[in-house]
Amino acid sequence: MVDLPLPALGAHDLLIRVRVCGVCHTDLHIVEGEIPLPKLPVVPGHQIVGTVEATGLQVQRFHTGDRVGVPWLNWACGTCAYCRRGQENLCAAARFTGYHVDGGYAEFQVTDERFAVPIPAGFGDTAAAPLLCAGVIGYRALRFAGGSAIDRLGLYGFGASAHIALQVARHWDVEVAVFTRNPEHRQLAAALGAQWTGTVGEDPGGPLDSAIIFAPAGELVPAALRALGKGGTLVLAGIHMSPIPQFDYELIWGERVLRSVANATRPDAEQVLTLAAAIPIQTEVETFPLDAANDILLKLKHSTIRAAAVLTCGPAA
Ligand SMILES: [Zn+2]
Ligand SMILES: [Zn+2]
Repeated sequence: MVDLPLPALGAHDLLIRVRVCGVCHTDLHIVEGEIPLPKLPVVPGHQIVGTVEATGLQVQRFHTGDRVGVPWLNWACGTCAYCRRGQENLCAAARFTGYHVDGGYAEFQVTDERFAVPIPAGFGDTAAAPLLCAGVIGYRALRFAGGSAIDRLGLYGFGASAHIALQVARHWDVEVAVFTRNPEHRQLAAALGAQWTGTVGEDPGGPLDSAIIFAPAGELVPAALRALGKGGTLVLAGIHMSPIPQFDYELIWGERVLRSVANATRPDAEQVLTLAAAIPIQTEVETFPLDAANDILLKLKHSTIRAAAVLTCGPAA
């Protein structure tokens, strides 16, 4: 823990007093240096819920005292080909919270108002935090998996993202099979509406229309392809994955699709927050004080957090 100076504000910036910040697997990849690090030292954390403490001269969307959320996408150029066609998540100049810019494992954070999101009134701070990355990525992965148009979905790994994706899928009347080694995670998945739970390699009762892998384990890819029916999509939702073992063409033959999800756009965040309020999604959250961050990252590494971990950085509501 160190004291840092308060960041300076640009014309479009919000100075946000952080109330809570969700802990994401990406924070672990950053802290352990498993992905290239553009800025060091860096304050991690990209599921920030806080209140606006001060505003830059040209800020219009938010006012002092408003509650805002800050997701992973912290800024995109708005003018490149990707940005112009609605793929700002792929912008080469994009900056990410707690990666290119200091994030929310802190008392204060600064974000351009155009990349902050309002938090629906129905959600408390801690309940809302996991929606900002786990929820957004799960939602984008679900869309790529076929959304409400599929009948049977498989989820591999059951952490913060999967437990939100599961509830959205059930809301869309999609049958869900959850694959995880952790018996406590299987229980939670069943309680949240999963029709089948088991471990990788077990038969979920017939082929799946689509599947999402949330765990950063490449060896899951051939196993998940094996469980997929013809025309099915396998979505890889993590920012990092161990090497994928070689597999026979037969596993992807039959127009099966293998694709990744890279970051998310502002509409993804807005849509999942609206949907979460309408369902309403119950986020399973464990809260911890800010100074426990290193211990919590270790717990996340060993998969001993029940669903989503949230750090309380200030007086949470
Ligand atoms: Zn994240
Ligand atoms: Zn761009």
